[in-house]
Amino acid sequence: MTRCRLCGSAALASVVDLGATPPCESFLAADRLDRPEPAYPLHLRVCTDCWLAQIPPLITPEETFQEYAYFSSYSTSWVEHARTFVAGAVERVGLGSDAFVVEVASNDGYLLRHVVDRGIRCLGVEPSVNVGAAARDAGVPTLTEFLSPETGAAVRAEHGPADLVVANNVYAHIPDVVGFTEGLRALVADDGWVSIEVQHLLTLIEENQYDTIYHEHFQYYTVASAIRALASGGLTLVDVELLPTHGGSIRLWARPSEVAGEPSSRVAEVLDREKAAGLQDLSGYAEFSARVAKVRRDLLRFLIDAAERGETVVGYGAPGKGNTLLNHCGIRPDLLAYTVDRNPYKHGRFTPGTRIPILPPEQIAADRPDYVLVLPWNLRDELIEQLSFVHEWGGRLVFPIPELSVVEVKA
Ligand SMILES: [Zn+2]
Repeated sequence: MTRCRLCGSAALASVVDLGATPPCESFLAADRLDRPEPAYPLHLRVCTDCWLAQIPPLITPEETFQEYAYFSSYSTSWVEHARTFVAGAVERVGLGSDAFVVEVASNDGYLLRHVVDRGIRCLGVEPSVNVGAAARDAGVPTLTEFLSPETGAAVRAEHGPADLVVANNVYAHIPDVVGFTEGLRALVADDGWVSIEVQHLLTLIEENQYDTIYHEHFQYYTVASAIRALASGGLTLVDVELLPTHGGSIRLWARPSEVAGEPSSRVAEVLDREKAAGLQDLSGYAEFSARVAKVRRDLLRFLIDAAERGETVVGYGAPGKGNTLLNHCGIRPDLLAYTVDRNPYKHGRFTPGTRIPILPPEQIAADRPDYVLVLPWNLRDELIEQLSFVHEWGGRLVFPIPELSVVEVKA
């Protein structure tokens, strides 16, 4: 990668190089273990002109999304999150019965069904054939397309301009950030609103969440770089909300630049925090790389010491991001015998790259290991509760991030 995908600058500084890893959702079936496994560099860089953090787009969204396995409606917390969002958006934008709402990357219609329920006209634009079909079955009109300036203009020509365009959990997943933003502008009415939720680089850096860097996330936004990205398509940020989702996200409210007016005081507040964290010079990023290296050293030291003492360590969870951590640290079954997951699709499969077996959760109680390494460490409180049964044999929980901690659970 020689140029910033947002501003075209060649001034890209290395933030952290996590080595080469397979795509994080490519869990291996047993009959694939003797075959080669492609690995792609996972090197985060930041543009020192527009401060967009980015990785090279080596895996296309087409590969990720055509047959996407994630159905948002399976998660009750997401459905509730969507219901609250729709209620708030109706109020903020003042959506009446004649309004029109478009959601980009609308998944299985988990959000738009709340718009349908309110009798408001809507359309989902969703690239995955299978999840888009599920949305139509649930009564949510859905077009199977990737958003581009052309598809945005075609939707506007056929359905009219949208009073509200929603793009949640997609703005990091599209390598053509300028074309996508132009597509949003093509969809939205000249006096309309655009709402975007995306992971916040500030919390990623502050809380050491480097395992959320993976090939499907092409860029990582501060509010400062999001302002630049929105402007590339003719949109202006007017307000921002900080959300706890995905370890820390931002909800951006933008409007066509001609009608946007002055941004809210909240925008200035978050920009000040980002600046204080060193994210508009190289200091904040330089320190991050050192902290990532320490996570690896501390976790490996712990696992090696446990192995030397003859103690057993198994994993809990096989989330995609766990694979960034396992691959970056170079952990193999000699240090982590297996991991368990609640998703039956993963049982009998192996983690990509590191080839650690994935078993059903019951295996932990059967084997009574000395330690359980929690890979979805961000669900710390929930999992301390859920895994409290390890106290029965004196087992302990290990959380690798934000820094290594060993937790003795109580009955
Ligand atoms: Zn740039």
